[in-house]
Amino acid sequence: MRALVIDDSRAIRMILGQILKALKFEVFNAGHGLEALEKLKETGPVDLALVDWNMPEMNGYEFVCEVRKDDKYKDMRLMMVTTETEMSQVIKALEAGANEYVMKPFTKEMIVEKLTIMGLSVE
Ligand SMILES: [Mg+2]
Repeated sequence: MRALVIDDSRAIRMILGQILKALKFEVFNAGHGLEALEKLKETGPVDLALVDWNMPEMNGYEFVCEVRKDDKYKDMRLMMVTTETEMSQVIKALEAGANEYVMKPFTKEMIVEKLTIMGLSVE
């Protein structure tokens, strides 16, 4: 399976990347929503995108809205990765088409649980 990690923090991208690679995902990265849309043009639809909320250029909410406008991405699972202060906004992202959310700080176990809920088989 293939995953796109979208976060303006290089450290978070690395941590999520390590977790996903350990789960046998092929991992792509983007530093904000616009870069993520560009990356998707190269890779085509991926199985999963992990989406930060606050990012420059295009935030996570705007990214979810853009992706859900495009039918070719309809099977992509979108998981918001948020801080507690962003929680009140998460409902907005779920209404816009995000599938799940996980709070920072997260653990590998939390990520695995959410992937299972979304029907992505992990070992
Ligand atoms: Mg951020």
